[in-house]
Amino acid sequence: MSKTEPLVIKIAETKLDDAGVRRFIEMYNATNWYDRVRPTQPNESEFLIELAGRACYKSYGVELNPNLTRIREDSREYLTNVLAKGDGSILEHATVTFAILNASRVFTHEIVRHRAGTAISQESLRFVRPQDISLWIPPDLNKVAREFDEAVQEITKRYRELESQFDWEKMTFEEKKRVTSALRRILPDGMATNIIWTANHRTLRWVIEMRTDPSAEVEIRKVFDQVAEICIKDYPLLYADFTKTELPDRTFQYTPKFSKV
Ligand SMILES: Cc1cc2nc3c(=O)[nH]c(=O)nc-3n(C[C@H](O)[C@H](O)[C@H](O)COP(=O)(O)OP(=O)(O)OC[C@H]3O[C@@H](n4cnc5c(N)ncnc54)[C@H](O)[C@@H]3O)c2cc1C
Repeated sequence: MSKTEPLVIKIAETKLDDAGVRRFIEMYNATNWYDRVRPTQPNESEFLIELAGRACYKSYGVELNPNLTRIREDSREYLTNVLAKGDGSILEHATVTFAILNASRVFTHEIVRHRAGTAISQESLRFVRPQDISLWIPPDLNKVAREFDEAVQEITKRYRELESQFDWEKMTFEEKKRVTSALRRILPDGMATNIIWTANHRTLRWVIEMRTDPSAEVEIRKVFDQVAEICIKDYPLLYADFTKTELPDRTFQYTPKFSKV
């Protein structure tokens, strides 16, 4: 058995179409706002969220809506107010895509429960016959790590014995798929797998809060430590209200001032 660690890599994020933004801004007569704010806000996701939010009240300038007497000039002030009011729907305009590698099926089973605002592509154990069965050993099992390792080796051995009963060279792809899917039933839940997970920022804020809570499972907390660090670094205004607290097992809890926007 090879040992492994869950790893999160950010692989994509929302990008602006600059020509389209410019055209929209001109049609909204909001060029003054754009020319003032865009140079101060290079973060495309945060800019898009602010742009979309301001469209609701035409709050790019008081001259655009006679009902306005003042607008929040600054992006930080604007987005903080959005979070404080709980106007989270505009956070759905921008998404982030993560590759979450070497995480167990225990983890993937939990993350797929978060349905709102996500997209998921998980490596298939129907189509992919595993060549290596690697696992992350939770620290709670450190004192029985050797026995745990032996148990996994035994499962792997029995899997290989069953696998060798089939003449894979002569099987059609459909037959291979069916037998691979049948055989996976003896593989451990802790087996490392890979998942591509996309979420919008409203969802991300909620899942970071829930899944770094001390009551969440240790592996998902480890993964969302990494997700939270990426979000706080890459989208500083959208996650400015999160505070980080170290837990006894050296993972971190990230708690927002404004929960569930
Ligand atoms: C510590 C912990 C322990 C858990 N233990 C268990 C367990 O023992 N058994 C178990 O089955 N699950 C368990 N779960 C999973 C949990 O019940 C939720 O399914 C999971 O956390 C998804 O969160 P969510 O319901 O907020 O949905 P999300 O998809 O993250 O949605 C976010 C929010 O959108 C709204 N929303 C989403 N979908 C709908 C909808 N269809 N209709 C109306 N509003 C919606 C809700 O306000 C929801 O909170 C646990 C979760 C945690 C964090």
